Amino acid sequence: MVVDTIWVLGDQLDRTLGALGDATPQSSRVVMVESVAKMASQPWHRQRAHLILTAMRRFAGDLADEGFEVDYRHAPTMAAGIAGHIADHTPDRVLATEANSFAGQRLLEQLGVVTVASDHFLCHRNDFAQWASGRKLLRMEDFYRVQRRRLGYLMDGDEPAGGRWNFDADNREPPPTDGRAWPTPPVTPLDATDHAVLEGLPPTCWGADPDGTWATSRREALRRLDHAITRVLPVFGPHEDAMLSTNWHLAHTLLSPYMNLGLLRPDEVCDAVEAAYRAGDVPIASAEGFIRQVIGWREYVWGTYWLWMPDYARANELGAHRPLPPVFTTMTTGIADTNIAADTPTTADTDIPADPEMTADTSTAPNTNLSVGTEMNCVRNAMADIHDYGWTHHIQRLMVIGNLCLIAGVDPWAVTRWMWSSFVDGAEWVMLPNVVGMALHADGGRMASKPYAAGGNYIDRMSDYCGDCRFDRRKRTGPDACPFTTLYWDFIARHDERFVSNARMARQVHASRRLVDLPAVRERATEVLDALDAGTL
Ligand code: SF4
Repeated sequence: MVVDTIWVLGDQLDRTLGALGDATPQSSRVVMVESVAKMASQPWHRQRAHLILTAMRRFAGDLADEGFEVDYRHAPTMAAGIAGHIADHTPDRVLATEANSFAGQRLLEQLGVVTVASDHFLCHRNDFAQWASGRKLLRMEDFYRVQRRRLGYLMDGDEPAGGRWNFDADNREPPPTDGRAWPTPPVTPLDATDHAVLEGLPPTCWGADPDGTWATSRREALRRLDHAITRVLPVFGPHEDAMLSTNWHLAHTLLSPYMNLGLLRPDEVCDAVEAAYRAGDVPIASAEGFIRQVIGWREYVWGTYWLWMPDYARANELGAHRPLPPVFTTMTTGIADTNIAADTPTTADTDIPADPEMTADTSTAPNTNLSVGTEMNCVRNAMADIHDYGWTHHIQRLMVIGNLCLIAGVDPWAVTRWMWSSFVDGAEWVMLPNVVGMALHADGGRMASKPYAAGGNYIDRMSDYCGDCRFDRRKRTGPDACPFTTLYWDFIARHDERFVSNARMARQVHASRRLVDLPAVRERATEVLDALDAGTL
């Protein structure tokens, strides 16, 4: 006889996860809630909102096919949805897998839901806290090696496969200039469920409609995994940091949304990578680079989020209070308030041969008609990709968007919220540490020992953006000076006293002190920041 209810949150769409893992239709019913308040809490990208809601509805269908009684509710809030379920079904208990977001976990506790430990990540947050305990520095590389040894990925006995723990140095190639093709992402035609979700999205959602690139079911996510392993991973790696105006995905696997929603499990993804490497289909640098992203960085970000929340959301060590530049919001209908809603858990709450599955450079250029209001070619390309797909890769996130926000002094929480709502793989747990700790140095160096600030030269080295830009990446003063280059030096000068005592930044501080044109640079920086604020840059 059914006595328990299992509440499945929108980013827990895994039949084997936590509370659902051992459940049977005979022991448990399932409740899922689409909350109006959650949808209204931020101006979500249409593809992000569509992905989560469609995946939820399909997952509910899969559970019903298995025999579960599924109470799928549309309610004003999550709490109202659960209250309605309890009133209608009077379960003995409501169980849920531990939530991924801090606000979500707090809500589960407030509602008296019995929580079951989550195995959504390979290192439970309590185990991460134990690893972190007593350490002065939480170095990702240290954690990563513990994970490699513990989980056994890419290990030959006690030694790392290929003789090195880290092949990052092999994976920083600039963009190729041979006009090569990149693996074309699979597409799933939209069906009636997709269209029903799209028709119900609130008008605050923005961005291009989905074109079927993002899978919304486990079956299709598994097809994306197979494509990633057989077509993408063999050429992933060397150019993973490169950016091209002619191709939005290059050789990136695009699997992060599925792992973040539960449609793919991190261990099954890593198992597939390991098998491909052992079969000789994927070079060690590519396999290691990918495995490090999943069992290293992804889990490290997750662990630090839980270790440092809730104070981490308010971290702003550099005193950055500039609002989001209009260029970030011209694609949206407005940014919602920046409070964490107490009752709104995160619902998602992240070669080259002639071949029909490979895409020639120019065919996947952003297809948007969007007119992004900036003359900065790098920012325009990143924003166009976000508008079109709700996705850009890590270097556009860190070294274009994040870098601009860092050197311009944009408020970290505003950037976090924007990234969370704009990316198909967004969630508070992933965006907060990546923005506060990594991109904006807002935690004062708890995560990264130096700020990832860069001028136009870095972007020029890693992209094809600067050649067509109306700004000159070599100039730091004058009307055609690259805003990144100007703001980089202004940023160093602005934080001179703080960074001069940082061993990894002192050289740049001394270089800035030697700039004979520093007063003119700072004057130009004021003009650049005014133009950024006005949306005229
Ligand atoms: Fe971006 Fe500056 Fe290069 Fe233009 S010149 S694309 S603004 S880095």
